[in-house]
Amino acid sequence: MIKLNEVHKVYLQGKVGFHALKDINLFFEKGETIVIYGPSGCGKTTLLNIIGGLDTPTSGDMVIDNKLTTTFIEKEWDYFRNHRIGFIFQAFNLIEHLPIVENVALSLKLAGVSDKVSKKQSIELLEKVGLGNHLSKLPTELSGGERQRVAIARALINDPDIILADEPTGALDMKTGTEIMDLIKSISKDKLVIIVTHNKKIAKKYSTRMIELVDGKVSKDTDPKDQKVHIVLKRERNKKKLKFKEAIRLAFYNIKGKLWRTMLVALGLSVGIVGLILIDSFFNSIRIGLEQQEAVLKNNPDLYILEEYNASNTIIDTVDELYDYDVFNEVLYAPLATFSITKNITTDSLLNEPVYLSGLERPQSSNILNTFTTYIGDSKLPTSKYEMAISLSQAENLLNSQVNLTDEELWDLVKNKQYLINFSYNYLPDEYSLYENITDGQCIFTGVWDKDPLNPPTDYDTFLLGPISDNVASLAKYNSNTISVGEDAELYCADYDLIDWYLDYSDPTGPGVIFTLVGIFDNNLFDEIIFHEDFIQDIEYQQEFYSEELNQDDEYLDLRERFRVFIKSSEVDNKANIIRALEEDGYFAFENTDLGFELFAGLITIFVYILQFIFSSIVSIAVITGGLMLLLILYISVIERKREIGLIRAMGGTRSDVRIIYSAETTMIGFIAGIFSVIISLILIVILNKYIYNNHLKLIMEYLPFIDPTKVLVINYSKLALAILGSIIIALISGLIPSMIAARKKPIEALRNE
Ligand code: ADP
Ligand code: MG
Repeated sequence: MIKLNEVHKVYLQGKVGFHALKDINLFFEKGETIVIYGPSGCGKTTLLNIIGGLDTPTSGDMVIDNKLTTTFIEKEWDYFRNHRIGFIFQAFNLIEHLPIVENVALSLKLAGVSDKVSKKQSIELLEKVGLGNHLSKLPTELSGGERQRVAIARALINDPDIILADEPTGALDMKTGTEIMDLIKSISKDKLVIIVTHNKKIAKKYSTRMIELVDGKVSKDTDPKDQKVHIVLKRERNKKKLKFKEAIRLAFYNIKGKLWRTMLVALGLSVGIVGLILIDSFFNSIRIGLEQQEAVLKNNPDLYILEEYNASNTIIDTVDELYDYDVFNEVLYAPLATFSITKNITTDSLLNEPVYLSGLERPQSSNILNTFTTYIGDSKLPTSKYEMAISLSQAENLLNSQVNLTDEELWDLVKNKQYLINFSYNYLPDEYSLYENITDGQCIFTGVWDKDPLNPPTDYDTFLLGPISDNVASLAKYNSNTISVGEDAELYCADYDLIDWYLDYSDPTGPGVIFTLVGIFDNNLFDEIIFHEDFIQDIEYQQEFYSEELNQDDEYLDLRERFRVFIKSSEVDNKANIIRALEEDGYFAFENTDLGFELFAGLITIFVYILQFIFSSIVSIAVITGGLMLLLILYISVIERKREIGLIRAMGGTRSDVRIIYSAETTMIGFIAGIFSVIISLILIVILNKYIYNNHLKLIMEYLPFIDPTKVLVINYSKLALAILGSIIIALISGLIPSMIAARKKPIEALRNE
């Protein structure tokens, strides 16, 4: 039952108003089929929209089923439109990207009905209107008559009491129009049906009552009625709303309809996020590198220990003694000797500048090896007595090469070639306490020397500490090279070891020993020749023999052996005490922190975070740009989909339903963008890592020696999940404004044909 009482509608256009409905007083009852007809522009649509709750009267009252609609709040209108009214439009107004089943089911879904139930009912209705074979078609794949059938099914799905049809046959030919009118008649037996048409024939044939409108006034009514109405003031609104899952389904159809645009938008949004992932991967790798360095420093801080050579105590004995301290997990050793690679036996060429190195037995700790060593090509460690492996930097010296070779090419040039190694023992003067206080990198020599390198002092016996600042300059160029001092002694100025200078008696092994080069390793801890254990033991015996000879001449000279120990991690904090204990036992121990990078512990880490923050902030601009672009696209989509929004509202969808539909769409775009970002980043990281390793290895080794050059970018997988989440949030935020604009539209404004 509907009662209109003194209803007026005035459209305000600028300063003048247009009086479209004038003093309408009408009463409609259940079971009536009313046709309202009249010339175009007489106010039929306006009247129907007011009855259907799409528009409100400027003045006057309307009572529907004992409810005074004049006092309705927004949500009551939504409920009313959703449950009481079924609308059929002249232009069908179907949602074009939704299959017809979804079009029909939408109204139920807006009332919170599940997908399953609403689909079932929608299929039943579509079968009833004769479209059982077209269920999954899109509206655009149907003829006009078929589309109007879909619209009729949609109007009926919520089983409304009132069917409103605005020129339902206006867009159809005669024959189809008649079919549609028959259908409407047949499905609306005990309902109140109000049909608007300008076709008088139709009006006569199908109506139980005809009302003519002229100039916004009722001019004829074949069955005028009136009745007192009883008004109930109870607010009715939907308890349930559109389920998010269903909103996602709707969004999915829309995205499917605009696949390319959606993908491009998602791609645009992902650019910035990819940037952020790459930056994070880079800093991740730096952090991992730093942590490893810290771990090595912590777990394997090494010490050098010098021991006076003692014929009754072999190197192995000392190793055992050192292990007895129970604070070392690794002891490497070598006689304190300098090895010089002087000749390439294979090509018979003398090296212009011998390569000087100290030697060590092969390091045993897999931790040290794995953390810091890269083996070039098919390099390996020595497996027999006359094999050796050398560090990359020494291999470069060996070729004397400024030539641009890759490590692999370098390795191929020196691989398995034989080299002549000369070695000489180093002896410390008895009174090594003399130079104990000298800091690293400085030189000591006699104070009476005239600094002519070609005419060095001969009487080392009377050496004194000289003014260091003077001496460094003059001796610096000799670096690790020896200056011959007389027949049987040499003066060293070494800037690379704690022992600033030492005396070296002439080569005790004569012509040297031939070794095969089996490996080049790149290692931040060992810049040494690695020999096989058998060889090291071999030269110890020679040392023994040699020392006996020596002691006959120079009893105050003192032979030493060198050990390198790695302190157990549990004892790390005890380092100072360990050194003191060793010294009390007569060893000479000193620290070696020759890591790839000096750590300032916490400070560096904070610095890395700050740096990452700065980089990320810069790249965030791209993310913001992506978000703004999305905002724009969604805003355009709101304008494009005005009709759809209006329709959803006309079917009783609430503002929040519209917002949910838009949010579902942005969530999906965000999700797609997130997935894009992850895939693109993963691919880029593989490519970039390869590229950097192949083209900028030197740069990395020089400036970031502590990171793995094959993995300059290391992805943090938990951050990938964060990236997806982040892009959804960005998309949601970008969609906020457009979805609010969409929700705010009045149904009639949104529906109006432009
Ligand atoms: P009908 O459906 O009978 O052809 P309408 O109800 O659509 O007529 O329109 C009635 C009159 O009100 C017309 O003259 C039309 O121009 C005017 N009108 C309709 N909608 C608006 C509007 N939003 N603003 C101003 N005038 C309007
Ligand atoms: Mg009209």
